[in-house]
Amino acid sequence: MSDDCLFCKIIAGEIPSNKVYSDDDLYAFEDINPAAPQHILIIPKKHLTNINSANEKDEALLGKLLLRANEIAKELGLAEDGFRYVINTGRDGGQTVFHLHLHILGGRALSWPPG
Ligand code: 5GP
Ligand code: ZN
Repeated sequence: MSDDCLFCKIIAGEIPSNKVYSDDDLYAFEDINPAAPQHILIIPKKHLTNINSANEKDEALLGKLLLRANEIAKELGLAEDGFRYVINTGRDGGQTVFHLHLHILGGRALSWPPG
């Protein structure tokens, strides 16, 4: 828990969110400003600033995050038509909240390349 982290506060229930999934290690919730019909954020409960902050000790956690994201995508009905995972990292990566999060985006055809 990082005291001034928005997503740590969401995990702690200090800031409300629309929960999609929770277990001992992970929390998933709806993005407040959806960029697609389905836009979910899945985050580790452990505070990691971004993917660059992860190390070998986080290997299992990151594997679990991706596999759980797959299950969420499936539950949202995105598996057949497809979806996109995004991990914005640092300033040039467009990261605005500095607690590692995987975006799950789907429900429409997404364009490429990103802006
Ligand atoms: P980033 O740009 O860091 O990859 O993404 C941060 C995401 O967090 C954005 O898509 C933004 O809409 C979302 N977000 C920011 N503040 C809140 C909040 O208070 N609640 C929720 N549910 N999402 C938030
Ligand atoms: Zn945090």
